Parts: sequence; C-alpha cells; structure tokens
Amino acid sequence: MPLDIPTLVIVSIFVMAILGLLLLLAWVQDRSIQALAWWGAAYLIAGLSIAMLSGQIPINQAVSNDIASALLFAACGLSWSGARLFDDKEIRPFAMFAGALIWLLACLIPEFSTSTMGRMIVSSVIVSNYTLITAFELWGGRGEKLVTRWPAVIVLTLHGLIFPAQIPLTMWQPASRELAWLSTSWIAILALETLLYVIASAFIVLAMAKERNEKIHKTAATIDPLTGIANRRAVVANGNKLIRTVARPGRPVAALMFDLDHFKKINDRFGHAVGDSALIVFARTATANLRSTDLVGRLGGEEFAAILPNMNADEALAAADRLRRAYVEAAKEIDGQPVMGTLSAGVAVTTDSTLSVEALLARADEALYSAKESGRNRVVVAGEKIARAASVTETPKIAPAMPKTPVLTVVSTRQASDEAA
Ligand code: GH3
Ligand code: MG
Ligand code: MG
Repeated sequence: MPLDIPTLVIVSIFVMAILGLLLLLAWVQDRSIQALAWWGAAYLIAGLSIAMLSGQIPINQAVSNDIASALLFAACGLSWSGARLFDDKEIRPFAMFAGALIWLLACLIPEFSTSTMGRMIVSSVIVSNYTLITAFELWGGRGEKLVTRWPAVIVLTLHGLIFPAQIPLTMWQPASRELAWLSTSWIAILALETLLYVIASAFIVLAMAKERNEKIHKTAATIDPLTGIANRRAVVANGNKLIRTVARPGRPVAALMFDLDHFKKINDRFGHAVGDSALIVFARTATANLRSTDLVGRLGGEEFAAILPNMNADEALAAADRLRRAYVEAAKEIDGQPVMGTLSAGVAVTTDSTLSVEALLARADEALYSAKESGRNRVVVAGEKIARAASVTETPKIAPAMPKTPVLTVVSTRQASDEAA
C-alpha cells in the first residue's frame, strides 16, 4: 500500500498537538515533574513547525521555512532540557537553542539557503544530535531504577540513528523515472517512522513520570525519611509475610527489638541534631551487621526492630549482641561529641507461621523491657518455654525474671563490662 506523504504530515501535526496538550495536562495535574511541561511545549512547537513547513499555515514561504525549521530545532532543544530536568540536572540555555541559532545563521548565507541538500543535511544532523543526547541524558540517570527509562533510551537512540538516513536517500537521485517511486517510498517510510516515534516517545515519557511518582509515594509510605530504613508499616507488612512464608518447625523466625539507652539525655546534652545522627548511626550499623535477607526498620523515636528468618534463639541472640557491640563502638563519638551511646535489645523467636509479627514483636518488647530493667546495654531473649530457655543460658549472670509476664524468661544477658573482662 503506497504511503501518502501529505496525509502522514497532516496526521503528524494533529498527533503532536494532541500529545503536547496531553503532556501539559499531565503536568498541570501533578507539577512535581517539571519535565512534562517542557516536553509538552516541545511537542506543540514541533507540531507548529511541521504545519508551517508543510504549508498548512500560509505565511511568507521563504522566511517561514527558515523560522519553521528553527522552531523544530528549538523543540528538540526543549525535549533535551526536559530530559535534563527529569534527572535534576540544570538547564543549559545556550546549548538548548544552539541548533536553532546555528540554523538561522547558516540561512543568512545565500548558497546554503538555496541548497536543498545542504538544508537537509544540516537539519538532519541537528535533530539527530539532540535526539541522541536526550537518550544519553536519560541513560545517565539510570541510577534511579525506572523500568520505563530503558524503552525511552532505546526509542530515542533508534530514532536518532534512523533519522539521518534521509541524507543518503535525498542525495540518491534515481537514474530512471521508474525508480523515482523508490526514493519517495523511503521518504514516506521515514515520515511514518517519525510519526510512530512521536507517539511512542510521548507515551514512554508519560509512563516514566508515572512510574517515578508511584515510586516516590511507595517510598514515602514504607521508608523512614531520617534513617532511610523501613518504617513501622513496612516492618509489619514484610515481617508478617516473612513469618507466613518461612516459619515452621525447624525454620524459626526471630524478632529483635532495639531501644537506644538514655536517648533523651543524649538529646539534652548534645542537641537534637546529634540525637538524629545517633539514630542514623544505629541504622547504618544495623544494615551493615545484619544479612541482606533480614528486615530492619525504625518503629518510631529511638526504637528499632529486625526480623531475622531462619534464626534460632542462640543465633538471634548472637546477632543482636554483635549489633549491640558494633553500635557501642560506632556511637562512642558522634559528630565529634563523646556520646558513648549504648542500646538494649529483646529477642523473641517463633516457628508458628500463624503468629502475627505484632505478637512476636510484643514478646521481644517484653524481653527488651527486661533488658532495660536489669541495667541496659544488654540483650535479653524471651523464651516460649522456660525449660528450653534455661538450656540456652550462656552466661551465669542471669537478669531477674520479669514479674509481669510468666512466659518470659531471661536466658542471656551481656553487659559491656563483661566484654572488658
Ligand atoms: P531509656 O534508656 O529508658 O530508653 O530512656 P530514653 O531516654 O532513651 O527513652 P525516652 O522514651 O524517655 O526518650 C526517648 C526520646 O527520644 C524522647 C524524644 O524526644 C526522643 N526522640 C524521639 N524521636 C526522635 C528523633 O527523631 N530525633 C531525636 N533527636 N530525638 C528523638
Ligand atoms: Mg524508647
Ligand atoms: Mg530509649
């Protein structure tokens, strides 16, 4: 089926106008992603440019062609700036309009202005350069894991490489009239490719903006902003999932509760900022000292929790105590202040997949309370069965049993002073 170039051009003009408005509408609805406004404006200007170039908007032809092409290159510059803004890079106004400027200056040279071939080559090179550097900008921002970034990079790169194909096609003058249709067909195919590119790229950038927004909302809902680790909601949701999928006889799940000791005094003595730093120090120490499969989060204030799959009471106690020691070491001095921070921890273990993480954490919290009661800077394990708890007792120094819960038994306490000995 022969492709009709004038029809393709008219379709392209309307498609660009509609997509431009769609991108602007998306930006109006959510102004946090400014790039959408730039991309929307770029589409509208490119549509206007094509309308002028194809004679759909009747104005002085000689001047309008030069200006229309310059508008198209400015639109390419805007798209590139949009990609820079999308990844929080600053705008480069001169580079953004360099293509349009070079074009307008070249048009002042009469030899260039009247050379169809010259105009074709320079315009293809400008469009393809902007397209490729836009792809490069998006590729440069790949540190932010967006699935939709990759189709954007691929589509832009392909278009940037295909678009200059019109240079040899225009240069090629068919020897016979019979072959002339071939070059026209190629140009029609290129026009179609450009139309498809315009549609695909608009939808991909919209998808990228949507994916980023969803990610931001998801992060805000699950990450503690100060420490960058999971918040209570994420600990509960993922902890319940861990217990359901892992816990069964022979495959215990351990919950650890941590509370920084005398944290109020740290705030009072060294200031709130140092207190904040102590929380960050704990989060870093915890992440560094636990396995990647463990779940660690801040429940609120100076209270943290960790859920450790496949860990029995002995192993969980060892892990909690390793973390306690690491924190004591890391919190000796914070922000240049002699903070000498310590923490207390409680450990509870279950093999029951129907137990809720809240219930398991409550047991660990009781053990933590016991650790506080018996002098702080130590780890206490809550046992479901006293007999079993007694068998894992490691140190002769047993903290007093908790009066408020009969099921809770302290099986191991360790103090910093023990280590020194
Ligand atoms: P204990 O050893 O018994 O746990 O005593 P504590 O002082 O650590 O516990 P308490 O509950 O009395 O005080 C907790 C303090 O933590 C009070 C609150 O101002 C402070 N806090 C809570 N959230 C933050 C925070 O985000 N940053 C800072 N700097 N302090 C916080
Ligand atoms: Mg507390
Ligand atoms: Mg505390």
